[in-house]
Amino acid sequence: MKAIVFSEQGSTEVLQYTDVPKPTLDANEVLVKVEACAVNYLDLHARRNRPEIAEKFQRGETPHILGSDIAGTIAKIGNATRGVAVGDRVVLAPCIPCDVCRDCHSGAKNLCDTQELIGFQTNGGYAEYVKAPAQNAIQIPDALSFVNAAAMPIAYLTAWHMLMTRAQLRPEDDVLILGVGGGVGSAGLQIAKLCGARVFATASSDEKLARAREMGADVTINYKDIDFSEVVLDVTDGRGVDIVLEHVGAATWEQSIASLAKNGRLVSCGVTTGNIGTINIRKLYQKQLTVMGSALGTVAELRTLVQLAGQGKLEPIIDRVLPLHRAGEAHLLLENRQNFGKICLCPTL
Ligand SMILES: [Zn+2]
Repeated sequence: MKAIVFSEQGSTEVLQYTDVPKPTLDANEVLVKVEACAVNYLDLHARRNRPEIAEKFQRGETPHILGSDIAGTIAKIGNATRGVAVGDRVVLAPCIPCDVCRDCHSGAKNLCDTQELIGFQTNGGYAEYVKAPAQNAIQIPDALSFVNAAAMPIAYLTAWHMLMTRAQLRPEDDVLILGVGGGVGSAGLQIAKLCGARVFATASSDEKLARAREMGADVTINYKDIDFSEVVLDVTDGRGVDIVLEHVGAATWEQSIASLAKNGRLVSCGVTTGNIGTINIRKLYQKQLTVMGSALGTVAELRTLVQLAGQGKLEPIIDRVLPLHRAGEAHLLLENRQNFGKICLCPTL
C-alpha cells in the first residue's frame, strides 16, 4: 500500500511517499481503508522531535506512519471482532487504552497511563490502510462525510470533554474561548453555541475573529495589543465569565484567571506557551474558583459528537483537502498557521 513514512526526525523533507506492506490483523482488530486523515500539530512535533518517536526509532521500529484522526471503510475484520462488518463507514477513536488498569476499570480510559495514540505510538492514517482494535471503530451516519468525520476526534473530543463533562457548561453560562482559530477553539465555540451559552472568543487576527462571529461568537477580542481580561470584565459589568477554555498556558494564564466570575471554572487542556502559571490563592477562595485539567475524552463522547455532526448540529471547519502524497505541504501550512480549520489528507485523491 501507499503511505507517507519517515525513519528519522527532521523537516518535512524526511516524509516519503512510498510502498509499505499492509498491516496484518490480530483477532480483535479491523483493517480500515482510509478515506480521510486530518493533520494535527502533534504530527508536526512527532516528525520534528518528540522523544517517543525517537525512542521508537532507537528500538528499530521503522518507519513510522503519522495520523491520529482517521475516517474510512472497514476492509477486513479479525476473527474475534464483534459489532463490526466489512463495508462499515467508521471514524476511529484515537486512543487505545490498556483495558486492565485501575483507570480503565473505573471507566476513565482517557486517563490510562499506558494508552497508545494511533499515529503516535502506533502506525496511523497517513496511508491507504490502517489497523485498529475493533472497539475503536465507531460507525458514522451517511450524512457525515469522511472528511468531516476525520476532522472531529481530537479537536471535538477535547473541547467537548472540557466544556460539557469537566466544566459542566449550562445555557446560562458565559464562556471565554481562547485561540478560536485553532481546532479545539473552533470546536469549543460550536459546542458552547449549541448549548446556548454566550461566547467570548479571542484570536490574534481580525480575519479569524470575523470568521468566529460568523460562527456565532458574541464578543470577539484581538488579544495582540490588549489584556483580554479587561475587555471581558468591561462587557460583563465587572462580573467575568463562568468558564474559560484554556489551552495557551503561561502566556495567558493570569488573564484567564482574572476573567473568571464568582464560581467560575477554568479548564485547561494545553500549554503551548509554557507549563508554569501563578494564581492568587486569596482570590481563588474568595471567588470560589475552580481550576481543572482535561485530557482528550471517551469513546461514548465521540459517539455523541458523531451523532450531532450527522444531524448537522456541529459542522467541522475544513480548510482544505489534499492528496496523501502532499502531506509535507499540509505540515508547512499548519506550521505557518496559514489554515483556518482542519487540513485533511485523502489517499484516494
Ligand atoms: Zn488502562
